[in-house]
Amino acid sequence: MLIEVKDTTYLWLYRSIFFKIFKFTTKNKKLNKVVKALNIKSRKKRIIYIYQELSKEIDKYYSMDLCDFKDNKCVAQRQNKSKHINGCCRMCLHRTGGKCPTNNIACKMFYCDVALTNAKKLEYNDLALFKVFSIANQFMVKSDYFTKEEEIINDLYYGILISTVRVTYRFIKQIIYYKLGKKT
Ligand code: SF4
Ligand code: SF4
Repeated sequence: MLIEVKDTTYLWLYRSIFFKIFKFTTKNKKLNKVVKALNIKSRKKRIIYIYQELSKEIDKYYSMDLCDFKDNKCVAQRQNKSKHINGCCRMCLHRTGGKCPTNNIACKMFYCDVALTNAKKLEYNDLALFKVFSIANQFMVKSDYFTKEEEIINDLYYGILISTVRVTYRFIKQIIYYKLGKKT
């Protein structure tokens, strides 16, 4: 049976009991990716699809260089005359040569007030595809800063209980990394 998705109101229902047995369709072009995600019946593949498509959407929205790095200092660090470099990524153990080597949605969605001086903030609510994630997965995506894409995808796949242990372990590792003096 085919179910037409008209808006995002019943996504919570579509992704639960109907999910495995029904096919979805839509006449609304804005919901094409939502429908594509709902039609991916492998949970892991669906999580990967949603995560990667959301990353692309956020990159497209924030295509301008809001952090405006100069001599490794972002605009906020320069304005505040901070001694630190590398902006928000300075505490991250994954950072390589001032660049992010991965795709992290929580990091991509974060911009401080200084960076947003001349730009409108993108909200999670603006991203229809984000609503295909369960509430628990939405919470995990929003809070999993400083983490590589493959680790986040595994967190989303394993569920909140196992992922809490994984996140706690990574958090401790992150603190040790920072305390050991690799901070800049
Ligand atoms: S979001 Fe703000 S603090 Fe973070 S790197 Fe950009 S300008 Fe710097
Ligand atoms: S994972 Fe986040 S904090 Fe780490 S380098 Fe990438 S954007 Fe920066």
